Amino acid sequence: MSDAIVAIDGPAGTGKSSVARGLARQLGARYLDTGAMYRIVTLAVLRAGVDPDDGEAVAEVAAAVEPTVGFDPDDSRSYLAGDDVSAEIRGDAVTKAVSAVSAVPAVRTKLVRLQRALADGPGSVVVEGRDIGTVVLTDADLKIFLTASAEERAKRRDDQNVANGLPGDFDAVLADVRRRDHLDSTRATSPLRAADDAVVVDSSDMTESEVVAHLVDLVQQRVTHQGAGVRNR
Ligand code: C5P
Repeated sequence: MSDAIVAIDGPAGTGKSSVARGLARQLGARYLDTGAMYRIVTLAVLRAGVDPDDGEAVAEVAAAVEPTVGFDPDDSRSYLAGDDVSAEIRGDAVTKAVSAVSAVPAVRTKLVRLQRALADGPGSVVVEGRDIGTVVLTDADLKIFLTASAEERAKRRDDQNVANGLPGDFDAVLADVRRRDHLDSTRATSPLRAADDAVVVDSSDMTESEVVAHLVDLVQQRVTHQGAGVRNR
C-alpha cells in the first residue's frame, strides 16, 4: 500500500489512543501522540511552579521546552529534557492542568509546527489528537473523528481506573469528562470539532478491534479507490 497520512481526532475517553496505535501497527505506520506533547509541556509548566492559567508565563516555559515523543505504537515513550516522563505525564496533576496549557496560543503554534515536521517523516503515519484534521494536517489522506457518548467514555475510564487498582468513582469521572469536553470544544484557538471532510465513527457500541478493522478498511478504500492516499515522498 502507498504511504498514507491518517488523522485521528476526538474527545477524551473514546479509546482513541488504543485505536490509533492498533491502526498504526496494522499499517506498519509510525504513530504520533500529540496529546503526549501537550502533556510534556504541561509537566514542564508544573515543574517550573508556573500557574497553568497564567498564559504569558506558560508561553515562556513552552518556548524553552523541547518535547520528545517516540513513534513506535508499541513503545512510544515521552521525554522532557532527556528524562523519561511517560508515566508522570499521565498522572492527575498533568491531566488536570493540560487543558489550560493547551489553550495558550503560543503553545499551540509551537507544537503544531513541531507536529507537522514530525509527521513529514518516512512512510505512513497515524497522528492522534484534537485538531489534526482541522489544523495540523488539513491535507491528511484520511481524517477520522472518533466519538462515543460521555457516559460510555466515563464508564470506560472508570473501569480502567479500577483495573489499575484505583478507587472507582463514576460520577467524578463523568464530571471530569464533561469538564474537559467543554474546555476543549469552547477554547478560542483550535476548538475540538470534526473537520468537514472527516469520517465520524461512533465507538459507543463497538469493540476496539472492530473500530481498528473499520479504520483499516477506510484507509484501504481511500488509497485504492480514490488514489488520495498516494504520496510520492
Ligand atoms: O489525548 P490526551 O488526552 O492525552 O490529550 C491531553 C490534552 O491535550 C487534551 O485534553 C487537550 O486539552 C490537549 N490536546 C490538544 N490538542 C491536541 C492533543 C491534545 O489540545 N492535538
